[in-house]
Amino acid sequence: MALGAALFGFVIGVAVRTATGIDSLGLGIGVVTGVVLMLLVDAVRGNRLLNWLRGNQQDNAPRDTGLWGELGYRVERAMRDRDRAVTRGRLELEQFLSAIEASPNGVLLLDSHEHIIWCNGAAADHFALDPQRDLQQRITNLVRAPAFVAYLQAGRYAEPLVLGNGRGPGTLSIIVREYGEGMRLVLSLDVTERLRSEAMRRDFVANVSHEIRTPLTVLSGFIETLHSLPLTAVERDRVLVLMNQQTQRMQTLVADLLTLAQLEGSPRPAPDRWVALDNLLVRVAADAEALSAGRHRLRLKPETGVELAGIESELLSAIANLVTNAVRYTPDGGEIEVTWRLLDGGSGELTVVDTGLGIAREHIPRLTERFYRVDGSRSRETGGTGLGLSIVKHVMQRHGGELMIQSDVGKGSRFRLVFAAARVRQASDSALGDEAAFGGAVLSDH
Ligand code: ADP
Repeated sequence: MALGAALFGFVIGVAVRTATGIDSLGLGIGVVTGVVLMLLVDAVRGNRLLNWLRGNQQDNAPRDTGLWGELGYRVERAMRDRDRAVTRGRLELEQFLSAIEASPNGVLLLDSHEHIIWCNGAAADHFALDPQRDLQQRITNLVRAPAFVAYLQAGRYAEPLVLGNGRGPGTLSIIVREYGEGMRLVLSLDVTERLRSEAMRRDFVANVSHEIRTPLTVLSGFIETLHSLPLTAVERDRVLVLMNQQTQRMQTLVADLLTLAQLEGSPRPAPDRWVALDNLLVRVAADAEALSAGRHRLRLKPETGVELAGIESELLSAIANLVTNAVRYTPDGGEIEVTWRLLDGGSGELTVVDTGLGIAREHIPRLTERFYRVDGSRSRETGGTGLGLSIVKHVMQRHGGELMIQSDVGKGSRFRLVFAAARVRQASDSALGDEAAFGGAVLSDH
């Protein structure tokens, strides 16, 4: 380009010299023309690059030769590199925020004035915030729990704060960490379930200890008596009978505790192991008849012809618990009946009805809690552990079924075990093979 301008200046200089015959004038005009031309071309190129920079730089920078071309190319490359870095950074930030968003823990960022900069869905839920509307709001105006405000403002964050959940009766564990210049990261964790299970475990251990200590105390008293008092043979026999009762009570308790532990620790019952219900009922009836010893009218063996899918020992334990409870909580002369009914859709229910003491409405929702008893002394007198119905509930849950309880004080109770259709079949259908039963055949007795 410089060469072109010099050449053009030279041609103009030669033309002027030829026209005027003055050498110096031709040289001067030639040089000036060449320089002006070079400056003009530079100005046009510079302006083109400037226009490109002023625009949105969607298209390429002007592809000139020489200095301007190189400058344009380098500027464009630097800008493209920067754009790529910004896009990558934004993408990484988005991925990072989505990961925090997916966290079950609440994450809340506060600036140095306690304004909310960002919060994830869990934090919004924990603190009853609106993640969009409440941005830039002061957190202490929105979460007014005095304990939270005091904790945030005291600045001593070594220990977490345990706080009632803003949206309900749950409990949150809150941790605050400082970062940057006065910024704070607030982490919230819903610990309702953890606290509940810790309390349950504590109660459970306390209950078990109490249940075991009572017969042990009685036993050690008897041992002391046998040791220190000269008893007659009759008296000794009576003491031994009582000792035997206490030992049996402990044995039953340990057996029930083991059953519960096994229920919790073992895998869900397979859906293709079929157990004949009528066989279970025959065994349950034999035990119940022995327990009742003719004191009740019993109808415990309906011929159902049904098979249930599950674990035989668990199903037996569930039904036996209901039937023995009916015997134990029904005064002499009362009636106890077991019935089976197929329901719409192929599910079925086994019902144990008695005409016994009945249970007041307020106790019913708590009956399946471990060691919950309506009348502790009656339960213990009749050999109860307070674990029977919680075993029944567990067994039913594991078998995809349900325990339902209805009762009227003074009239009697109705305990129903409802089994899902997939776990019920007529014994006659078993000849078709398990696949047929699994093929979704609707089983019914009509
Ligand atoms: P327990 O060993 O005390 O019988 P369960 O868990 O089997 O423990 O039952 C819990 C409580 O429910 C019993 O203590 C009793 O008060 C009440 N209950 C259970 N079955 C019956 C029933 N058929 N009639 C009246 N009350 C019952």
